[in-house]
Amino acid sequence: MARYTGPVCKLCRREGEKLFLKGSRCLTPKCAVERRAYPPGQHGRENQYRRGRASDYLLQLREKQKARRIYGVFERQFSNYFTKAERRSGLTGSNLLIMLESRLDNVLYRLGWADSRPQARQLVQHGHVTLNGRKTNIPSAQVSVGDVVAVRPESLKRTYFKGLRQNLDERRVPRWLTLDPKNLSAKVVHLPTREDIDVSLNEQLIVEYYSR
Ligand code: SF4
Repeated sequence: MARYTGPVCKLCRREGEKLFLKGSRCLTPKCAVERRAYPPGQHGRENQYRRGRASDYLLQLREKQKARRIYGVFERQFSNYFTKAERRSGLTGSNLLIMLESRLDNVLYRLGWADSRPQARQLVQHGHVTLNGRKTNIPSAQVSVGDVVAVRPESLKRTYFKGLRQNLDERRVPRWLTLDPKNLSAKVVHLPTREDIDVSLNEQLIVEYYSR
């Protein structure tokens, strides 16, 4: 299955809210959601007024799609996450979000090493990151308690990472991670809890979608 390569701002407009897929642009007035706050397409404006009559199924579907788009996950991969989340003890919806949040590309984004999750994904794929001292290019790798994520020593010489070292703000880092800004490395103190995950998702709707 091919990765979506179309205009990403359309995805936000489809969901009717900012998904922060474009880094710093998302915080400016250039953001498409602010300029055109209606769904994309020829009948987007008309559909905007139909939203009040959305069926339960539509709400569940949109929530699932929103989660997939925020974390940049394929349909099949997302469904696999859900199956694993169901098998774990505890609330399935929370388990699902915790697994998505524990992806390596998301960890980079949370550390502030990338402006967006797509950019974090690219940093991993281009081999700039190590997990427990070993180079990895798998953005979906799951981090565990005690894991150390770092920028590869060779990559630290790059202008991007030199600039990053000076501008990192430790206060932005979530409490489940500790950051060493000087060496651009971080440790997973504990896995995130639902309270640590500040994405606007109603995971119960996703559970209902898969329980139909
Ligand atoms: Fe979404 Fe960012 Fe584009 Fe705004 S600028 S529509 S938040 S991707």
